[in-house]
Amino acid sequence: MNSNVKQHIGHQVMAMIDRLGVSPLTRNYHLFYMCISNTDQRLRGAVRALGNSPTQADIDEVIEKFVPEALGSTFMRRQQDDVLRNLEGVLSKLNVDQLEAANFTGAVNNVSETLANQPDPQKVSPETLVKVAEALVEAGRRKVVAGNKTISQVESHVDELGKLRNEIERLRMIANTDELTRLANRRSFDETLATVYSKENRNSFGLVMLDIDHFKSINDTHGHAGGDEVLRVVAGCLRDCMRQDAFVARTGGEEFAILLKKTNTEEVRRAAERVRAAVENLGIINRRSNGTSGRVTVSVGAAMADDAETPKGLYELADGALYRSKDGGRNRVTLSGELGTDSTKRFLMYKR
Ligand code: GH3
Ligand code: MG
Ligand code: MG
Repeated sequence: MNSNVKQHIGHQVMAMIDRLGVSPLTRNYHLFYMCISNTDQRLRGAVRALGNSPTQADIDEVIEKFVPEALGSTFMRRQQDDVLRNLEGVLSKLNVDQLEAANFTGAVNNVSETLANQPDPQKVSPETLVKVAEALVEAGRRKVVAGNKTISQVESHVDELGKLRNEIERLRMIANTDELTRLANRRSFDETLATVYSKENRNSFGLVMLDIDHFKSINDTHGHAGGDEVLRVVAGCLRDCMRQDAFVARTGGEEFAILLKKTNTEEVRRAAERVRAAVENLGIINRRSNGTSGRVTVSVGAAMADDAETPKGLYELADGALYRSKDGGRNRVTLSGELGTDSTKRFLMYKR
């Protein structure tokens, strides 16, 4: 679908939202978009059956049935509704204020008209002037009272919106954070990687992937809780030995990824080597088992974003390089540029 057609549908969707008088919520937009751009007669019929002034509950029922992915989590939906309700509250208060302002202007206009219509404006009696002054003072007082009331009501809505914003921020944080290591999680990593490609800033962008070596045997020897602690310590080590602007994520069980901005192949190689050596020198297992045995190492693979056309392509390049590090004996770094032509085959073997 080209962008003109898309824009055209966008306008139709907005017109539909307007015509039905429903809230311009993302999920409503999604439903109407699907309805207009899709030939599904059942969906079209269900939207038509909503009539001319559907409630949000009616619309949600249709969304739930035909485009459930548009609903998002129930919580986010509730938050969205709360924000909208608050905004509607603010707008209605402002409307009241505007009405009061119009009343005041009307009163002032009446007074000046009355004065202008006096046969001889020079001879307006003091009684008339007192009445005029009283009318103006009263209109002004009403406007000030209404204005103050509006301000305090709007302030309480703004307060409420501030709280909701903080709550949404907190939830977004939870949704993007790995609970065990406090690093960014896979979801956040995928989003960040997609941004690199959508914003076309993939020149000078590198991806480093790491996988802890023989982690299963660490679990077997030190128990699951011991394994968890190793994951936490390794995560802290990655964070500590990377630049501030590096994006460090836990992408899977004992797998991590680092996105490096404004860099080049040599810098990526050095960063990857630095992090590999830092993990090797942690001596976690020695510390845990009173110096008995073992150490934790990672195998590392890296690739530059402009070597791939898509996020998935970049991921596969770095994963292929990581496989080569495993295959070559683990605890080492490989850059995708150094791989031979059989790397894809090896990558697939590794995946199995
Ligand atoms: P390789 O060197 O080839 O990577 O071997 P490996 O043992 O590290 O790899 P494998 O994929 O065989 O095992 C990974 C293990 O990681 C298996 C799984 O039980 C463990 N694991 C995954 N997530 C967690 C977790 O959150 N905590 C703990 N303790 N272990 C986990
Ligand atoms: Mg693994
Ligand atoms: Mg492993």
